[in-house]
Amino acid sequence: MARVYNFAAGPATLPEAVLKKAAAELVEYQDTGMSVMEMSHRSKAYDAIHKQAEALLRELMNIPDDYYVLLLQGGASTQFSAVPLNLLNGSGIADFVHTGNWSKKAIAEAKRYGQVNIVASSEDKTFAYIPELDENKFTENADYFYIVTNNTIYGTRFTSIPDTGNIPLVADMSSNILSEVYDIGKFDVILAGSQKNIGPAGLTIVIVRKDLVGQAREITPVMLNWKTQAEAGSLYNTPPCYCIYMAKLVFEWLKEHGGIKEMQARNEEKAQLLYDFLDQSELFKATVNPRDRSLMNVPFVTGDADLDALFISEAGDQGLVTLKGHRSVGGMRASIYNAMPKAGVEKLVEFMKTFERQHK
Ligand code: PMP
Repeated sequence: MARVYNFAAGPATLPEAVLKKAAAELVEYQDTGMSVMEMSHRSKAYDAIHKQAEALLRELMNIPDDYYVLLLQGGASTQFSAVPLNLLNGSGIADFVHTGNWSKKAIAEAKRYGQVNIVASSEDKTFAYIPELDENKFTENADYFYIVTNNTIYGTRFTSIPDTGNIPLVADMSSNILSEVYDIGKFDVILAGSQKNIGPAGLTIVIVRKDLVGQAREITPVMLNWKTQAEAGSLYNTPPCYCIYMAKLVFEWLKEHGGIKEMQARNEEKAQLLYDFLDQSELFKATVNPRDRSLMNVPFVTGDADLDALFISEAGDQGLVTLKGHRSVGGMRASIYNAMPKAGVEKLVEFMKTFERQHK
């Protein structure tokens, strides 16, 4: 079967060139006579991969030297616990902007260890927008301030990053890391699971300002203490070696294709194609407030659940797959990460036009 256009939210489509490169060196990596999967994580060959992956990420994202880059396991969800364990140790208060399911889960974990102040929430409108922030509601001595830069399920994103002054800003960037240019200096902690814009599931990246490491609570499990892996160069225990290798290939691919600035331009173009069509369609409707629309996840509906199901099924027949919306919102969602080519979005829009003519 030919490759399809896969609009899955994560694990998600990867660049075909990366998959082919991995396939070519799957059984024997360079002159080692073995697969990266079989290699000791203390070997010279693996060590080079590990260091290159970190160096490439630093270069792509322009990460300053006073930040650690940690290559971890456990998914972004494990960091929902690690963040309070490492940071919630002064006033014991954390400020959160509540923008969906992923902030909800992070809030629930933080509450185990201290007090949570919800600065703003968009729950009143099924998280279809990013709420305005009133600085008067910020906790003056909060241990950190937490946002989810891109909300995978609802398709919203922060188009401006809040200025939290001296309060460390923690960002869950799982679904839009590497998709647009960010000034890393605006953040103090960035966390991201790998399975959208980085590689296969299994790697979790934490970028953390060095001076925030080393203040974890006594009770912090050794594996959740950022200091453990910061001091060990992310080799305290066996890292997700093969995922890190795949991430390295993706980072190389990104660099070859012009880096994040170029990705952002392409992502804006792809998203615009889809939103422009949705905004003039008489059948399909985008669900998110225009100002706050994600470049990565585009939810839309027809307003008729049966028609949505028919659309998803017929799109699948055309090789446009995994368009079903998240189970908590229904409808459709097209995830158009870095690796989704413009041709995939064009084909989707063409199919939507055809479907609309038939069902309007
Ligand atoms: N945060 C966001 C924004 C996500 O989209 C996801 C997963 N889709 C998570 C956190 C959870 O990530 P993981 O499955 O890696 O724990």
